[in-house]
Amino acid sequence: MSDYYDILGVNKKASFSEIKKVYRKLARKYHPDLNPGDAIAEKKFKEINQAYEILKDPEKRKQYDTFGSLGGNFGRSRGHSNFEGFDFTSTGSSSFGDIFETIFGSGSQQSQTRGRDRKPEPGEDLLYSINLGFVDAAKGLETPIQVVRKEKCTTCSGKGIEPGSLKMTCPVCKGNGRIQKQTGFMKFASTCVNCGGSGFLPGENCRACHGEGRVDKVTRIKARIPAGVGNNSRVRIAGKGNAGKFGGAIGDLIITINVSLHKFFKRSGVNLEIILPVTYLEAALGAKVEVPTLNGETLLKIPPSTSSGQKLRIKNKGIINPKTKITGDMLIEIKIVPPPVKDIEVRRLLKEIEKKAPYNPRTGLEL
Ligand SMILES: [Zn+2]
Ligand SMILES: [Zn+2]
Repeated sequence: MSDYYDILGVNKKASFSEIKKVYRKLARKYHPDLNPGDAIAEKKFKEINQAYEILKDPEKRKQYDTFGSLGGNFGRSRGHSNFEGFDFTSTGSSSFGDIFETIFGSGSQQSQTRGRDRKPEPGEDLLYSINLGFVDAAKGLETPIQVVRKEKCTTCSGKGIEPGSLKMTCPVCKGNGRIQKQTGFMKFASTCVNCGGSGFLPGENCRACHGEGRVDKVTRIKARIPAGVGNNSRVRIAGKGNAGKFGGAIGDLIITINVSLHKFFKRSGVNLEIILPVTYLEAALGAKVEVPTLNGETLLKIPPSTSSGQKLRIKNKGIINPKTKITGDMLIEIKIVPPPVKDIEVRRLLKEIEKKAPYNPRTGLEL
């Protein structure tokens, strides 16, 4: 049984990083994928893995230094010295996949430190929602909103590659993009997972954006909300979404509008509705009264003999349709409010009117 230090060719006092460096070099040199059919290389590869398994772990290394290979715990007893063949499982050694991970790091980490293909990808649309008052929504406004959006990384100009880092040939497939694998007596080629088949690694990932080519940024955007937006309607602001990846198109910002209810205005399509309280005298004799609209008050003529529930209309004082730009009307529902009858004099006068000019408001309801 060879000494683990001898197998790796390192000093007994070698540091972990030294050992790791040597191990990586040897593992690459003797890797079965790179030496198909070479039994000696394969044996060597197993030995260096075995040695590294122990020496990379401070606990195990300490034990090994003190006691040597203990009862097969560390040293793997080999029944035959002229070991040959491709049967990895019998030695309990790791699979090809595991070995790759040991040497080159896991696939995901790998793609984080060294990117693969950097194809342009469009930026995502950003969703955002704002609450608007009834009148603000009806009249439209420009409001500043703060969004977190991905913007092009300035360190790498959106390329995702650390400035100054070089494109290099993939060390696993040596630029072939494919790897010969051998299982038992079967040989087959597969796409290199390390470079995704391109044969090269484009360079180190940019440290500022981790290779994404874009970074999160808090941005203030002036959102122009058009007049007439309704509750739950969406406003799309082009080009204010996430930046694209590697030269992809920028996404949009989509704002969902929540419109609050109003104290007395109501909306029905493009029409603006209001219930207008009037005195019974105004309703009976007709009057000109002030009505609130979206743009201040306006005078409304109430014709004589107007009843409660009757609807009057003011043209073009409604809400604009943001698409067609057509403005609706204002619909005014009359509501007759009786005078306060706690006053004895008011009661007396009302009764006098009733007595002097009686009328039946329920004509037509007789069965
Ligand atoms: Zn970057
Ligand atoms: Zn490769």
